[in-house]
Amino acid sequence: MNDRTALVTGANKGIGFHVARLLVAEGFDVLVGARDAGRGERAVAEIGAGARLLVLDVTDPGSVERAAADVGRLDVLVNNAGVQPVVGPPGETGVADFRRTYETNVFGVVAATNAFLPALRRSAHPRVVNVSSGTASLAWSTHPNPQFAHGSPRSAAYRSSKAALNALTVLYAQELAADGILVNALAPGARATDLVPGLAARAGDAAEGARGAVRLAMLPDDGPTGGFFSWDGSPVPW
Ligand code: NAP
Repeated sequence: MNDRTALVTGANKGIGFHVARLLVAEGFDVLVGARDAGRGERAVAEIGAGARLLVLDVTDPGSVERAAADVGRLDVLVNNAGVQPVVGPPGETGVADFRRTYETNVFGVVAATNAFLPALRRSAHPRVVNVSSGTASLAWSTHPNPQFAHGSPRSAAYRSSKAALNALTVLYAQELAADGILVNALAPGARATDLVPGLAARAGDAAEGARGAVRLAMLPDDGPTGGFFSWDGSPVPW
């Protein structure tokens, strides 16, 4: 029996699926978080032994509560579930679309993290990985080089939601330091997934981005907390 348990939210496909698969390969028992049981079961079957379904919709308080009630101890929480329903600049994005995006990317992370905190506090080496985005970096967004990739105001709802997630990463890290819980944010890089239709042609392999989450999930006790890291381990400026 494995003695470490990890939960990956939104693990039925994309980057989260690979994080779950790679954590199983590292010897974790992995709870494959999925809001749809059928999609989750298919991912669990594909990963094989070591993976188990946990039905979890991070925007549904009842679902979060039921999922947390099922988990006694948790060593790793990967807040991976995320959405990008609109891609416009702020002036062309309605409040409803901001809300829809924040519901999953910000409030969903708070809901899941708070619900699983008691289980994380029962771990000897607890870790939280928040899957953020390099496009949320304000330093990169305001980079003086006009050719810089994030120099346009597009995807305002998504990028500001991930900037809020970055802020929460720092605040959770400060709050939970006394409990030995290391909390870090990951920029997984542009990946070919269903998140952004059309990105596939210029995006990299989702498994490569997932490896960054595994690294942060397996940090040593004296590892960093409250940081923002790229998939390759290099720091990302806030
Ligand atoms: P994806 O393939 O669309 O996967 C997103 C996952 O999140 C799916 O499993 C989805 O479930 C799940 N999800 C969405 N809403 C949920 C909810 N309310 N409750 C639980 N699960 C929910 O996208 P991805 O690219 O792998 O994205 C994973 C993470 O990486 C996201 O946080 C994203 O922002 C981040 N990211 C991605 C890229 C990229 O280039 N792909 C770059 C930077 C950051 P369903 O199948 O049920 O919809």
